[in-house]
Amino acid sequence: MNLAEHLVATASRHGGRTAITCAGEAWTYADLEDATARLAGMLVRAGITPGSRVAVMLPNVPEFAVAYYAALRAGAIVVPMNPLLKEREIAYYLGDSGAEVLLAASAVADEAAAGAQGTGTRIITVQPGAFAGVLAGEEPLGDVADRAESDTAVILYTSGTTGRPKGAELTHRNLILNADLTVRTLLTLTSEDVVFGGLPLFHTFGQTCALNTTVLAGATIALLPRFAPQDALEIIESQHVTVFAGVPTMYGALLNLPDHGRYDTSSLRVCISGGAALPVEVLHRFEDEFGCIILEGYGLSETSPVAAFNHPDRVRKPGSIGTAVEGVELRVVGLDGGDLPQGEVGEIAVRGHNVMKGYWNRPDATAEAIRDGWLLTGDMGRVDTDGCYSIVDRKKDLIIRGGYNVYPREVEEVLYEHPAVAEAAVVGIPDPELGEEVMAVVALTAQGAATAEELRDFVKSQVAAYKYPREVRIVDQLPKGPTGKILKREIRSGLAPAHDAA
Ligand code: AMP
Repeated sequence: MNLAEHLVATASRHGGRTAITCAGEAWTYADLEDATARLAGMLVRAGITPGSRVAVMLPNVPEFAVAYYAALRAGAIVVPMNPLLKEREIAYYLGDSGAEVLLAASAVADEAAAGAQGTGTRIITVQPGAFAGVLAGEEPLGDVADRAESDTAVILYTSGTTGRPKGAELTHRNLILNADLTVRTLLTLTSEDVVFGGLPLFHTFGQTCALNTTVLAGATIALLPRFAPQDALEIIESQHVTVFAGVPTMYGALLNLPDHGRYDTSSLRVCISGGAALPVEVLHRFEDEFGCIILEGYGLSETSPVAAFNHPDRVRKPGSIGTAVEGVELRVVGLDGGDLPQGEVGEIAVRGHNVMKGYWNRPDATAEAIRDGWLLTGDMGRVDTDGCYSIVDRKKDLIIRGGYNVYPREVEEVLYEHPAVAEAAVVGIPDPELGEEVMAVVALTAQGAATAEELRDFVKSQVAAYKYPREVRIVDQLPKGPTGKILKREIRSGLAPAHDAA
């Protein structure tokens, strides 16, 4: 059971079909399979054996897929790394994973070489656009290495709920089953589909829900190396994208592009959102203006990632993450680890074929995260009578103001209802009397005109007195992580520069 078999099987069925488009380039499945076999041969000759770690530091270019499936084909464990990482971080990832080889984009080769110093990792430089030519002289590796279903396929570094990034070990079974259920039951993906590839492929969401699903279905992935709303709309129009996968801030950015209506997006048949809560207002506006439904799902790096989803043919509830996906169970647990009654808010726990093997070389962190097979997610949520789960917030983002719990998401949802608001984040800041005080940081739409005071009063009129933000700051944009998720910890540490406050 090796995830790389998906590519071999698809290439034998649909060799002539386009697997990847990117910046005017197009790779067929036959091209992709051939380059993958040759790079796998090169890796084996470089000493890679089953179980070796091969790090990949590439942006969203076709060579990411080549590197990823080549390492798997050779039986290695892929360690995807953000190409924006700096020397110190690179050294940490390489050292922690014990990567033998790092496949690094030529643009980051110097940084990668600096980070690799003293780690023993050998660097192979990959020049996007020219790498297929380099590989042409390499002897291909014929067979895909045999792997057991419980063997690790990928190590994804994630902060989890606490501490330094830890490597979530995802097995071939984890990833194969998650891609398979996404293709079959959630997206009903076929070889006719064109999937938008603007989520970073080094992250779990882009990797499973865009790359692995596309390859399994024999569909096409339309890669976008760096997300920008205008570029995304151009790709949707020119490549006839049928499936859009994005995080909530991407949907907001598309909506807030003033001339978004001039692009033809009628090819879209389904959009999926995950990675963070999708504000209900954004969902409704997007569905109205783009004429395409958004299905919200939920998951973590540790759950490969999909754990719950709004199924297209079952009950769909905006604001919820839907029901547990096939073969996966969710529970809401209290502080003592026991089940909470329906409707009560507790920590979401997940069990099933998607739960990681553990954190790489971190038995203590693994034992803390997985109890009796149940992964504690660090997310607070509840379940309703239909079995639909809602995430109220992350445990660590909960604000306790004068003894009252304030879930930032509830306040953010209200802010998003204000027409001038493009993005909003609500955080707790230390307060000598109350413990924490509620604060909002907001970015306005291009045409939006509202003062901080007006926004504060808008929320105040709609929520209980202890919940509204005593301070609203208006900023140009909110700090975001590599996938486009809003970074609350940066907001909390005061990195968002203020130019208007109430
Ligand atoms: P990552 O491991 O980077 O994918 O981050 C996983 C985290 O993203 C989860 O623990 C949640 O806090 C958050 N998340 C993912 N999907 C959703 C969603 N639909 N609603 C709210 N939070 C989400």
